[in-house]
Amino acid sequence: MSFESLGLQAELLRAVSEKGYDTPTPIQQQAIPGILEGRDLMGGAQTGTGKTAGFTLPLLQRLMQTGKPRMAGRPVRALVLTPTRELAAQVGESVRDYGKYLPLRSATIFGGVKINPQIRTLRKGVDILVATPGRLLDHIGQGTVDLSQLGILVLDEADRMLDMGFIRDIRRILAHLSVDRQTLLFSATFSGEIRKLARDLLREPMHIEVARQNSAATSISQTIHPVDRDRKRELLSRLIGANDWRQVLVFTRTKHGANRLADQLQKDGITASAIHGNKSQGARTRALGEFKTGKVRVLVATDIAARGLDIDQLPHVINYELPNVAEDYVHRIGRTGRAGNHGEALSLVCVDELKLLRDIERLLRREIPKVVVEGFEPDPAQRPQPIQKPHARRRPARRRA
Ligand code: AMP
Repeated sequence: MSFESLGLQAELLRAVSEKGYDTPTPIQQQAIPGILEGRDLMGGAQTGTGKTAGFTLPLLQRLMQTGKPRMAGRPVRALVLTPTRELAAQVGESVRDYGKYLPLRSATIFGGVKINPQIRTLRKGVDILVATPGRLLDHIGQGTVDLSQLGILVLDEADRMLDMGFIRDIRRILAHLSVDRQTLLFSATFSGEIRKLARDLLREPMHIEVARQNSAATSISQTIHPVDRDRKRELLSRLIGANDWRQVLVFTRTKHGANRLADQLQKDGITASAIHGNKSQGARTRALGEFKTGKVRVLVATDIAARGLDIDQLPHVINYELPNVAEDYVHRIGRTGRAGNHGEALSLVCVDELKLLRDIERLLRREIPKVVVEGFEPDPAQRPQPIQKPHARRRPARRRA
């Protein structure tokens, strides 16, 4: 199947071919024709499936077909809501890339940066707005954005937006939108809460569900290294050093843990930086840039910060600590083995985390192989200690995205 056969216009096909894509991914094949017809969509897809192009390409074409792009003042006609700044930036970049031959304007707005330049951009008129909920509400409150003419709404990573406590913000934004619109909702998981949101928002939606192109089962090898809690850092440095890994994404449960681990790795002579919600936008972008270019070998991230990061073909993902929520394990290891490349996901698991491990294995419906590294045998006498739950996770987190 080709992009031509999906009914996309020449300007979009040109942009797609310049990106080097020749075949639409499964979600693109299934979603694009229906979105072009104006249908609502409930899409079960995570990052890495090509979902961004799957909704951006037909969205751009719909805007060309249905509106008056040169209207004075240009009210916003399409809105993409994302949970994190990084995802907003990535989606915004895709909108610009795919729409480069179309006379449409787009803007990306998120918190953590000055609001005035955003106000100036919005005032000039924007067809497509990519935004995180908190900052968008600030603009709505200040009357600097006009959503009254919105024809298309996309909720990207809706499950994560709910996890981050954005539901009330989303509902407040919805109250400003026309009900006569096309709505596309993407989510990697389908809790009761997501299904309720979908029931409220979507009209006779198409349901499309795709696995990652390279599902965890086939191209990501997973290993557990049992180890004592106070020897994890040493083991991590050893693994990175002995294998000479050059690009490693490491997950911790907390922001504080991420900072501390990045500092310790630096002391071990391994370049590392931390990325999490408490860092300024500039610091996060810089850390990601340095990691992508290879200047920094290790990026230590919390779940929220890492979600949706588009880092291609990451060879190694390490769970320094298992996540409290089993689904996050799947999201984490999804950062490796992308685009058909083989990936490796290692988890350093101490006695405190055995229950979390059981939850993960139950979710995956299989056991993950355990390999004890020589010299790091866990002490069988060690007793589990309770894991401190980070409170931030379930708290409404408007200011962080
Ligand atoms: P996404 O799931 O939207 O984050 O996309 C994951 C990655 O796949 C991105 O780096 C895209 O640039 C890339 N991609 C999207 N569609 C295609 C395609 N049809 N062929 C090859 N790569 C693609």
